[in-house]
Amino acid sequence: MTELSPRDPTPLLPIDWAYAAAPESREIVTIAERYGLFIGGEWVEPRAGASFTTCSPRDEEPLAEIAQAGAADVAAAVDAARAAFPGWSGLAGSERAKYLFRIARLLQERAREFAVLESLNGGKPIKESRDVDLPLAAAHFFYHAGWADKLEYAFPNRSPRPLGVVGQIIPWNFPLLMLAWKLAPALAAGNTAVLKPAETTPLTALAFCELLLQAELPAGVVNIITGDGATGAALVEAAVDKIAFTGSTEVGKEIQRRLAGSGTRLTLELGGKAANIVFDDAALDQAVEGIVNGIYFNQGHVCCAGSRLLVQESIAEAAVEKLKQRMASLRVGDPLDKNTDVGAINSRAQLTKIEQLVAAGSAEGADIYQPPCRLPEKGYWFAPTVFTNVAQSHRIAREEIFGPVLAVLTFRTPQEAVEKANNTPYGLSAGVWTEKGSRILWMAERLRAGVVWANTFNRFDPASPFGGYKESGFGREGGRHGLEPYLAFESA
Ligand code: NAP
Ligand code: MG
Repeated sequence: MTELSPRDPTPLLPIDWAYAAAPESREIVTIAERYGLFIGGEWVEPRAGASFTTCSPRDEEPLAEIAQAGAADVAAAVDAARAAFPGWSGLAGSERAKYLFRIARLLQERAREFAVLESLNGGKPIKESRDVDLPLAAAHFFYHAGWADKLEYAFPNRSPRPLGVVGQIIPWNFPLLMLAWKLAPALAAGNTAVLKPAETTPLTALAFCELLLQAELPAGVVNIITGDGATGAALVEAAVDKIAFTGSTEVGKEIQRRLAGSGTRLTLELGGKAANIVFDDAALDQAVEGIVNGIYFNQGHVCCAGSRLLVQESIAEAAVEKLKQRMASLRVGDPLDKNTDVGAINSRAQLTKIEQLVAAGSAEGADIYQPPCRLPEKGYWFAPTVFTNVAQSHRIAREEIFGPVLAVLTFRTPQEAVEKANNTPYGLSAGVWTEKGSRILWMAERLRAGVVWANTFNRFDPASPFGGYKESGFGREGGRHGLEPYLAFESA
């Protein structure tokens, strides 16, 4: 008999093991060298011939040349939408629904391609674009397809009718998802649209134009014009019946000023500084997961991010300790790697803004913690950050950072939690973590926030209205509430 070989002394896993890279292939996407504007169902050159380069924030690689629409291009897009309006609004609701269902199914079929493109152009981790952005974008079209032939039931005895041409302006943090939030209800209600994606993230909106051609959506029903803030401002000035804007409070205010008294309808989805409130009876491990999801999801580029942690004083030390341990296991790096938890910061400008506010946090006396992590050399990166010893007067507790930066404050009583949570000009979202159902209801009644999550955070569903109070804007998106701003009603 042969002798058994002695056991290999090297353990199966080295003690200091790391994840092997698991990159998602980018072969599936084809990016054109340059893109025109999508007007009247075709690609057209911008009249002034101007363009800009869109890059990947993970390594600053140039991806494509993007057309810069000027006022004349915006006017042409609005004319195309106007020309398409009688045909589209005259279709039976069930016919419009067919197109929306088709768009939803095509998005599902091409989900991987769109997810890779979204992560490449915007910097968010592929597991988020794949598991959150794409499924939700498709869900928004499915949901609104269901309403297209039921508007009379959604708003009984009010004779709902479409407004006409709507202008829609969206930000860079959820490029395709924000497009879906805007277009799906507008089209279901029978409007035609001109949409401007954000300057840094135009690629999924442009790929979506190809999808619309595939879906054979009638020409001019959706027009996509790329450009910067000046293009957005030109759209606000154009002859549209409604503007739907998602972006910063600053630009939102400017648009509101511009449209005051003009008769053009307006909805604004703006910034936030949400409180995520943890009581001493909460399941702490789940709460820590919720805190991490609340602020490090999408690098904290989330309007409803839980950027202020309010934790009950008696458990504050334990909670912060667990949080720091959990932060140390977050993997920061290549957005296209399937293991990545925190991707790239969307742009150089956003990175600078985050760096400035974090410097202010330290200068004002708060204590900073960042887990050890090696950031890539090229591209825009910021490590997950938490500040303790924060006062309500600190800038990091008042201003929207829109990055992976959490400010921790403490409270003793529910009353104090409510006062601190509401002590902000914003009112978009809030989170409550407690075992007591009665306390959840007590809190939800008092929090001035459009959405209050209980024992969870950052949950979205097309059937659930989303929107803000105070400087977070007005109007709702999603649900029956979200259809209403795209409709006119018979006055009594
Ligand atoms: P932003 O600068 O306000 O830009 C939003 C959009 O408006 C972009 O397409 C932008 O074009 C365009 N724009 C810029 N100046 C304009 C002007 N004068 N007139 C018309 N349009 C103009 O905001 P952002 O920095 O891209 O996005 C971050 C902000 O959006 C955060 O404050 C966040 O909280 C908010 N947000 C809110 C929600 C919500 O649902 N409440 C959701 C997501 C984000 P450019 O890209 O070329 O600048
Ligand atoms: Mg901007």
